[in-house]
Amino acid sequence: MTALATAVPAAATLEVDLEAVAANTRLFAERSGRALMAVVKADGFGHGATQVARTALRNGASWLGVTSLDEAVALRLDDIDAPVLSWLNPAELDFSAAITYRVDVAVPGLEHLAAVVAASDRAGRPARVHLQLDVGMAREGASPRDWARLCRAADRAERAGRIRVVGVMGHLARGDEPGHPANKEGRDRFAWGVAVARRQGLRPPLRHLAATAATLTDPLSRHTLCRVGAGLVGIDPSGTTPLHPAMTLTAPVVSVRDVKAGTPVGYTHTWSATRSTRLALLPLGYADGLPRSASNRAEVWLHGRRCPVVGRISMDQVVVDAGAAPVTVGEVATVFGPGDLGEPTVADWARWSDTIEHEIVTGIGHRVRR
Ligand SMILES: *Cc1c(COP(=O)(O)O)cnc(C)c1O
Repeated sequence: MTALATAVPAAATLEVDLEAVAANTRLFAERSGRALMAVVKADGFGHGATQVARTALRNGASWLGVTSLDEAVALRLDDIDAPVLSWLNPAELDFSAAITYRVDVAVPGLEHLAAVVAASDRAGRPARVHLQLDVGMAREGASPRDWARLCRAADRAERAGRIRVVGVMGHLARGDEPGHPANKEGRDRFAWGVAVARRQGLRPPLRHLAATAATLTDPLSRHTLCRVGAGLVGIDPSGTTPLHPAMTLTAPVVSVRDVKAGTPVGYTHTWSATRSTRLALLPLGYADGLPRSASNRAEVWLHGRRCPVVGRISMDQVVVDAGAAPVTVGEVATVFGPGDLGEPTVADWARWSDTIEHEIVTGIGHRVRR
């Protein structure tokens, strides 16, 4: 066994193709024929919230959506002016920032409503709210049995000038299974919720239910606005529409070593060479977002071909079997990319680690250079 070279200082690099985000945004704006909210939670699905937001706004989106109020304020501090909705905050939160920074907030219950009204009292200006109904996920949103009471209270607060109810929203549990009966149930419950809101006197101009999958596959779910996150970064959970993946993750080879048949590799020796071969070391591991469960299953693109990841993926490094390819230190491996050259994709990594693409793209660690 001969160590042919030692480590050179170099890092894994993540590149985001904003042209891909732009093309995806245009597709959703055209396909939906509705107002488009670019959902940029979790740092724009790991692609950079501000840059994805700006790109989407230039290519047909008119709204932004995030979970926490902090994420919304961060967009404002980056000088983004478009309407922003935040839908996941504790009722105990001080909602003053929502008013100061002109952020719309989702209201899933009476406690939230009281907190928002209190903030608007302090500010002397009404907060803008979207009443949120649970349409079948038992996660966020008011349950149907509390909905009429919430609408009534919101109508009173609106008449008192404390809030403006600008929207009613819901979120489908099985949008990625087009035609599943749960989607019709969700749509029906949403339509019921809108009718109840109107009966209580509310006239919310926005009604929004669809995320990426439903926007693509279920025209009846589109209402006045579609909230699209995954699709903008090239992920289609419905598996119906080719989109443009936007992430490329590369890493330089930091060392190579030639080993004999029978040489075991990595923690607990889960793989051994079956022939003499060249191994290449890449300086990234599960702390950088490569799922350890993809050990001995994943591949990377190196020296113009796919090479298997061998042995356990470690915290900071991974070994690749380059076979007979004369790989040298400093050569760059593509961990995943759009797939145009034959390199693995985010979808491949999701399959190799039994997860969804969302988890791969949002899991890339802070150490990776952007
Ligand atoms: C994440 C999220 C979305 C966006 O879903 P995608 O499938 O990524 O488009 C929309 N609405 C809510 C409430 C969400 O949490």
